[in-house]
Amino acid sequence: MKNAVLRLLRENSPGYISGEEICKRMGVSRTAIWKHIQALRAEGYDIDSQTHSGYRLVAVPDRLYPEEIYCGLESVILGRNVYYFDSTASTNQAAREIAAGGGAEGTLVVAEEQTGGRGRMGRGWYAPRYLGIFCSLILRPELPPTEAPPVTMLAAVALARAIQEVCHIKAGIKWPNDILIGGKKLCGILTEMSAEMERLNYLVVGMGVNVNTADFPGELKEIATSLKIETGAFVSRRLLLQRLLYQFEQLYRVWLDKGFKPVLAEWKEYCVTLNCPVRVTSVRETLEGWAEDVDDTGALLLRLPDGTLKQLVAGEVSLRTQ
Ligand code: ATP
Repeated sequence: MKNAVLRLLRENSPGYISGEEICKRMGVSRTAIWKHIQALRAEGYDIDSQTHSGYRLVAVPDRLYPEEIYCGLESVILGRNVYYFDSTASTNQAAREIAAGGGAEGTLVVAEEQTGGRGRMGRGWYAPRYLGIFCSLILRPELPPTEAPPVTMLAAVALARAIQEVCHIKAGIKWPNDILIGGKKLCGILTEMSAEMERLNYLVVGMGVNVNTADFPGELKEIATSLKIETGAFVSRRLLLQRLLYQFEQLYRVWLDKGFKPVLAEWKEYCVTLNCPVRVTSVRETLEGWAEDVDDTGALLLRLPDGTLKQLVAGEVSLRTQ
């Protein structure tokens, strides 16, 4: 009901709609309408009311409410069902629970803040309230589990496309799961999978984007950046998320219809950690060599000083350019 009132206000924006008209369209009393208007105001919607003209939507809040995401969203499946949290430990964790309970393909979990956000290998992810996009998508592609890992690379391309579209800056992809600008980390991606031997149950693709963060704490100051820092301007998280969902869906279709090759080709155009010397660290060892290529499974092909080619699987290693 509250959302229906919001839709009417939006349809008439920037003009007024009378209380009487809202009552007639919704078949409820003026008191009920007033309560919904108050509830919307409490959520941050700026709604003007004039005795003779009625109500007018003046401004919407910078929040990722489901209604805000749906309004103007061009994707058909992704982000059509949104679970919203003002704060949650981790959107990936919430998404895994929702997926385990039958959450449909395309379901999006979004939070204004993550208190226990994770990177790979149990590392933390800094996710301050209202300043970034912290979200996870549930996907159920009909693929064998072995073919699923490149979805992380697909997500990186979708993010890079959306950033280019909204902010007009070219982001670089760092193998396997980060987006960088000027060598500093802008986004991280964490994919988790539930599968049995031959069958993929679901994928959860978590993405953290530093959007309007003005500064970072401690050691992150040196290694992290945000779109606001890079562009010098406030960036609409709603718009960026909508474009991300749209671009993700386009690439996802290509992947399922034509295979991963076309997505990989675009990924390579954005990649800034290929054809350069790199150091790769895993729990077992540190290897130095030339980042020669990435194969169709998303593994890095590292040319070692002795001339051998080593295949490195994402998820186990950290990469640094030398
Ligand atoms: P590496 O850079 O070693 O390869 P990674 O890039 O894969 O690791 P993740 O494990 O995906 O890193 O992300 C966690 C790391 O990212 C943390 O250890 C921290 O250094 C950094 N980090 C945490 N929060 C943020 C943030 N909001 N923006 C940028 N970097 C962050």
